[in-house]
Amino acid sequence: MIVAMRPRATREQLDSVIDIIRDHGPNPVTTTTAGTTILITEESGTPELAAAVENSPGVDRVVIVPGAQRLTSRVFREEDTRVKVGPAGEAVFGGPEFVVIAGPCAVEGEKQMDAVADAVVAAGAVVLRGGAFKPRTSPYSFQGLGVAGLALLAEQRRRTGLPVVTEVVTPGDVEVVAEESDMLQIGTRNMQNFDLLRAAGESGRPVLLKRGMSATVEEWLLAAEYIMHMGNNDIVLCERGIRSYDRSTRFTLDLGAVAVAKRLTHLPVIVDPSHSTGHPHLVGPMSLAAASCGADGLIIDVHTDAENAKCDGAQALDEEQFTTLMRRLKPVVEAVERTLSTPRSHSHSLAEV
Ligand code: PEP
Ligand code: MN
Repeated sequence: MIVAMRPRATREQLDSVIDIIRDHGPNPVTTTTAGTTILITEESGTPELAAAVENSPGVDRVVIVPGAQRLTSRVFREEDTRVKVGPAGEAVFGGPEFVVIAGPCAVEGEKQMDAVADAVVAAGAVVLRGGAFKPRTSPYSFQGLGVAGLALLAEQRRRTGLPVVTEVVTPGDVEVVAEESDMLQIGTRNMQNFDLLRAAGESGRPVLLKRGMSATVEEWLLAAEYIMHMGNNDIVLCERGIRSYDRSTRFTLDLGAVAVAKRLTHLPVIVDPSHSTGHPHLVGPMSLAAASCGADGLIIDVHTDAENAKCDGAQALDEEQFTTLMRRLKPVVEAVERTLSTPRSHSHSLAEV
């Protein structure tokens, strides 16, 4: 159950509502979101309890939410949440526009970033990706440039005008990553790192939350609850493939989960066709499939020298493949009554021609 208090509710009124709820079960969690004080219970809530709370002074709204979800549920908030990314909202997830994020798996150096950023801007990506802190399966693999990588990414933000998203792997780094980027990425391996989720919830930055490779949709949405109950509503979910018995693709892209998540939550959902499939020739078809099954966007690995990439080169599209994909994506996106988002600076310069 979720109880939203009136803006001018007093401390005493809040305490008396907490007392009523406590009589029926454990303490509710108190949070503030968009200036409203909200009480959230672990239990879905009963009509009797809801009626008792509803009639208490200072209460604005009581919502019984079935299942384990609370703030992320469509029952609590019916309309789609729009997540703005970038200082001027250069990218908006969850609205009429389909948003494409692209860039290398890892930030490797200035030359590499110049080349890849130019390629993705020219093809029409609206957000630049690039990992500075890389959670690698093997300790002997390239671990990322860390803070130096963040600076290289921030330099591309200045140069191209594109907002940037980058992964944060430990709560202690949330502050520096939030300072240097426009969106924090929480990867599949950290989806249930609850301290990291809480820290991201306090960061003031939008969060791209990837699905754990062995997580159910419910676990994924509850991970988003960890961020949201800290007062951060700017969450974009990302399906990136789950572990299955079949090794013909790197992971098994679960597009059914995209449709399920879109029904269960008001948060935007995007798809990573690169990490899920692991093969450039599968990235195109799965991108089109993602757009047609209701995803709000994509995050795609692009590299201009994939053979020498320090991370995940085998799945990266080159400039030509990415440009072709963006061209093919447009009519598919339009067939599902969306428009393909274009970079502001790019559309501006096109308008001038
Ligand atoms: C990534 O996007 O760079 C990444 C590591 O993805 P995932 O967490 O989905 O493996
Ligand atoms: Mn990768």
